Amino acid sequence: MTDSPDSPARPLRVAVVGAGPAGLFAADALVKNKSFDVSVDVFERWPTPYGLVREGVAPDHQSIKGVTRVFDRVLQHPAVRFFGNVRFGEDVTREDLTRIYDQVAYAVGAQTDRRMGIPGEDLGGSWPATDFVRWYNGQPECADLSFELSAERAIVVGNGNVAVDVARILLTDPEVLARTDIADHALEALRQSRVREVVLLGRRGPAQAKFTNVELKELGRLDGVDVVVAPEELELDYASASAVEEKRVARNLEILHEYAARETTDAPRRLTFRFLASPVELLASDGGVAAVRLEKNQLAQSDDGYLVAKGTGEGRVLAAPEGELAAGEYAVGWIKRGPSGVIGTNKACAAETAARMLEDAERLPARSDGASTDPDAILALLSERCPDYVTADDWRRLDEVELARGESGGRPRVKVVRVNEMLDLMRKRGEG
Ligand code: NAP
Repeated sequence: MTDSPDSPARPLRVAVVGAGPAGLFAADALVKNKSFDVSVDVFERWPTPYGLVREGVAPDHQSIKGVTRVFDRVLQHPAVRFFGNVRFGEDVTREDLTRIYDQVAYAVGAQTDRRMGIPGEDLGGSWPATDFVRWYNGQPECADLSFELSAERAIVVGNGNVAVDVARILLTDPEVLARTDIADHALEALRQSRVREVVLLGRRGPAQAKFTNVELKELGRLDGVDVVVAPEELELDYASASAVEEKRVARNLEILHEYAARETTDAPRRLTFRFLASPVELLASDGGVAAVRLEKNQLAQSDDGYLVAKGTGEGRVLAAPEGELAAGEYAVGWIKRGPSGVIGTNKACAAETAARMLEDAERLPARSDGASTDPDAILALLSERCPDYVTADDWRRLDEVELARGESGGRPRVKVVRVNEMLDLMRKRGEG
C-alpha cells in the first residue's frame, strides 16, 4: 500500500449504506484497490444482506442468485464489517456517518414506485409490482400483504423484466415454485390462485418493449400456458421500424412473431400480450378493482425525439436539488442511475464510483476531530442506538438455518420472513 502525501496514515474509513449488489460491489472494489488502505463498514436496514438478489430476483431464477458467493467473500474480507438491522435516517443519521467516516457511499436503490396517476389506482386489488415481488420473495415489510388472486384475469402494466417476472410467477405451476426459495406465504396463496389469464400491457409498441430476449423467450416455455399475441399488434410504424436495428429489439420481435404464429392449445392458463394501450381508469366493485378502462395509443415523436431518463455517470451527491456537490458523499447503483440494467451492471457502476472515491481521497484534508480515526466509534453508537444490530457472523448463522431448512424440503433455502425470528435464530448461535 502507498499513501498519498496528504492522506492520513491510517485506513481510509468508508461507510456504505445498503448491502445490495451496488453496495457490496462497491465495498469489494474499495478494499481491493492497490493505492489505499481502505476499511469499509456496510450498513443495511434488514438483518440480511444481498438487497435485490434476495428480495427482487425471482425465486425461479436461482442461477442469478449464485452471485451471493461473491458477496459472501466481500463480507468475509477482514477490512469489511457488516452492520445489519440498522436503519439509516433513524438508527444512524447522515450526520453520524459523515462525522465518523472519511467518505460515505449511498447504495440504497430505488425505493419508490412510479405511480400511474389514474383514477382508481388505490383500489383494493391494484398493487405496485414491487410490493408483489417483495411479497413473494419474503421481504419482511411485505410479508403480511394479502393479494387478491380470486379473479380469473390479472393485468400487469408495463413491458419490462419486472412485469415479465410478475406474469411468470402468476402463471407458473405452484408445484414448480415449491422447489424454489419463494416465501411460504406466497406459495400457499399461489396454490389457491384462480388466475387463469395474465394480460401484459405495454403503453408503447413491441419495438419499445424493454424485456430482454432470454426473459421474453422463457415466457413461451411455461408448462400449461398458451401465449397469445395478435399479429396486427406487431406491425411497426415508420419510427419504430428504425429501432429494429438494435439486436435486442430485433430478437424480441422475432420471438413475438413466433408467439403470434402459435395455435392456442386450450392450455389451462394463458398469457396475452397487448401493445399500444394504457390503463386510464380502474373501475370498482365492492371496493376492489372490477375492470380496467384502456385507451389505445399511437406513437408520436416529440420535437426533440423520445427522451428517456439516463444516468449522467456522475456519481457524487448533490446536497439539495441544484445544490453544491457534497464532499465525501457518493451514490452507487440504482440511486445513482435509476432502475436499469441487471445485477451485474452494478459491478461496473460500483467500480466507477469507487474510482472517484479513491481519486478524491488523494485530496482528503487531514481530519482533526478524531471521530473518523476510531474504528470503535461506530460500535459505541450502535450499541446505544440499536443494540439489536447484527454482524456478518450473525447473518451466517441465519443463512445456515435457512439452507438447512431448504435441504430437508428439497429447496435451495426456506426464507425466514420475520425480523424477530431472524434475530432469535441469529442469537441461538447455530441452533435451528
Ligand atoms: P423497465 O425495464 O424500465 O420497464 C418499465 C416498464 O413499465 C416499461 O415498459 C415502461 O414503459 C412501463 N411503464 C412505466 N410507467 C408506466 C405507466 N404509467 N403506464 C404504462 N406503462 C408504464 O423497469 P423494470 O421492469 O421495473 O426493471 C427495472 C430494471 O431491472 C431493468 O433494468 C430490468 O431489466 C431489471 N430486471 C432484470 C431482470 C432479469 O434480468 N431477469 C428481472 C427484473 C428486473 P415505457 O418504456 O413506455 O416507459
